Amino acid sequence: MKIGVLALQGAFIEHIAMLRSLGVEAVPVRLPPALEGLDGIIIPGGESTTMGKLLITSGLLEPLRRTIEAGTPVYGTCAGMILLARDIGVAGQPTLGEMDIVVKRNAFGRQLDSFEQDIVMPALGDVPFHAVFIRAPAIERVGPAARELGRLDDGTIVAARQGALLATAFHPELSGDARIHDYFVAMCAATQQDNATNDAHSRHDNTTDIPSTIDHRLSTIDHRPSTIDYQPED
Ligand code: GLN
Repeated sequence: MKIGVLALQGAFIEHIAMLRSLGVEAVPVRLPPALEGLDGIIIPGGESTTMGKLLITSGLLEPLRRTIEAGTPVYGTCAGMILLARDIGVAGQPTLGEMDIVVKRNAFGRQLDSFEQDIVMPALGDVPFHAVFIRAPAIERVGPAARELGRLDDGTIVAARQGALLATAFHPELSGDARIHDYFVAMCAATQQDNATNDAHSRHDNTTDIPSTIDHRLSTIDHRPSTIDYQPED
C-alpha cells in the first residue's frame, strides 16, 4: 500500500507522519511522475488558491484529475476539500472539481478563525472525533452522488464521502487520532482489492477455452474501477 501526499504547500509533512505511523508507505507528490503506482492520495490543508496555482505550474492538475477519474481514492482535508469540490461559489480559482459537494471557503468568519470541536462521525464508531478547524471551509450542500459523514453542533456539514473520495473541513492530522487516516487506508485497500478482482477477470477473459456464450458475457463486463460506493456503509 503506497499513498501519495500532495506536497506543494500546506500540512503535508503531518499527513506523511500519520500514514507512516500506521505502517503505510507515504510519499510526497510534487510532480506528475510521482502519481505512478499510488493506491491513494491525500490533498492536505493549506491555502487552496496557492495550491491551485502550484497544481498548474507543476503540471499536476490534469494528471491528478485523470488519476481521480480512473478511481484512485483521494482524501482532501480543508484546502484539499476545497480543491476537490465541484462548486466553491466563485469562478476563476483553479480546482479539481471532482466531488459533488458545494463548499464555502473561510466559512466561520473572523472570531471563529480557528476552533476545535468534538464531532460525532458514525463511520468512525461511537467515540467523537476531536476536530481542529483552521480558517476552515464548510460544506453547504452535499449533492446526490455524495453523502455526509459528520456535522458540527450547529448542523454545519464538515465531512463527506463519494465513492473513493473523502473530504473533511478539518485537519485530522493535528488531533493525534488516526481513525480518519485509518478509514481512508481501508478505502484504498478496498479499491486495491476491487482492481485485483477486475485484473483477474481480464486475464480470464483472454483465455481461449471459454464456451462462446460465457465468452460473450465476460467480454461485456466493464473492467473499469467501480465509482459507486462499494465499501460497506460505516
Ligand atoms: N482558508 C483556506 C483556503 O481557503 C483553507 C484553510 C486550511 O486548509 N486550513 O484555502
